Amino acid sequence: MEKPKVIILLGPPASGKGTQAKILAKRINYKYFGTGDLLRSEVEKGSDLGKKFATAMESGGLIPDELTDPLIKAKLGELKDFGVVIDGFPRNLHQVATLKQVFPEENFLVLNIVLSADSVMERMLKRRICKKCGKIFIIEIGEEKFCDVCGGKLIQRADDNPQVLAKRIKTYGEQTKPLIDYYKNIGKLSDIDGEPPIPGVTRGIEKVI
Ligand code: AMP
Repeated sequence: MEKPKVIILLGPPASGKGTQAKILAKRINYKYFGTGDLLRSEVEKGSDLGKKFATAMESGGLIPDELTDPLIKAKLGELKDFGVVIDGFPRNLHQVATLKQVFPEENFLVLNIVLSADSVMERMLKRRICKKCGKIFIIEIGEEKFCDVCGGKLIQRADDNPQVLAKRIKTYGEQTKPLIDYYKNIGKLSDIDGEPPIPGVTRGIEKVI
């Protein structure tokens, strides 16, 4: 099949969307666009906007669209002439419409990473992120590990704690899951088994592409 111009990774929190989107973008030489990374970089700047983002992120909800729209629309504008792999966007129907204004949907492929509720919970608790380069790791509880790319310290994301977990899963169910039906109905969705270790999921994606 002709290569789609926009490949969207959908799936519950900690389903491996970010990891797989980065692997895929590199392999097919597309740009990677992840809203989680974009929004976290604003938090790290310590700007007023970043502080508002942090409050929403730490509550487990989505950051309100009126706060993220300018940043996301500017980034989409920069990407409009490229092939793009997108992770963490769209996350609600408003964002579906925003994306459609920049990229025609006939060029979309949506990969829906399917993972059981138990696996989501386990991965979220075991996920660590390199403080220096952002690489994601799944560790064993109590394991001391450093980044195998840059040697950086591995930390737990502020929103990967048991208090926020349940809310993030609820937010996903209420706001993002309906997008599965939306993209299925327009014939753009393929399910990917998210249970195997990283290389197995990558192989599943490659079969579809
Ligand atoms: P992620 O790294 O994709 O799991 O995103 C972490 C958090 O950032 C989410 O729980 C949301 O609070 C926020 N976030 C990421 N992407 C979006 C988005 N497209 N719209 C609103 N909030 C977002």
